[in-house]
Amino acid sequence: MTNDNQNICIHCGLCCDGTLFNRANIKDHEQNASEFSFEIIKTEKRAFKLPCSYLNEKVCSIYQERPYAICESFQCKLLKALRAGNISFDDAMKIIVDATALKTKIEQQLFEYHPDNKDDS
Ligand code: SF4
Ligand code: SF4
Repeated sequence: MTNDNQNICIHCGLCCDGTLFNRANIKDHEQNASEFSFEIIKTEKRAFKLPCSYLNEKVCSIYQERPYAICESFQCKLLKALRAGNISFDDAMKIIVDATALKTKIEQQLFEYHPDNKDDS
C-alpha cells in the first residue's frame, strides 16, 4: 500500500485490512522485523498475518519504516490502472467507495445472521 496524497490507497486499505488477503508474503532473504510485532506465519512461504495491526483506519501507521518489500511493491489492479492512466482518480475512488460500502454491508449481515446474535424473543 502506498500513501502519497495523489493516491487512492489512503482512502482504501483493503489490501492490508484482511478484506482482500489474509496474509502477506515475506521474501526468503528478508529477516523477521523483530522491532515490530507482525504475526509471522510459517507454511510453505513465510508471511505475516492480515489484517495488519499497523493499519490505522485506512493508512499505514509505520509507512516510513515498513520493513517488508511487499508493503512497498504491492499494487492492486485498480492502482495499476490509475497509474497507467486507464482510469481517472474520481472513477477509481468511486470503485473504492462502492467496495467499502459493500464490505460494510456484508459485515453487518454476517453479524446480524450469526447464531450468537439472533434475537429469539
Ligand atoms: S487501492 Fe489497491 S493497493 Fe491501494 S490500498 Fe486499496 S487495495 Fe491496496
Ligand atoms: S505494514 Fe503498513 S503497508 Fe504493510 S501490511 Fe501493514 S499497514 Fe499495510
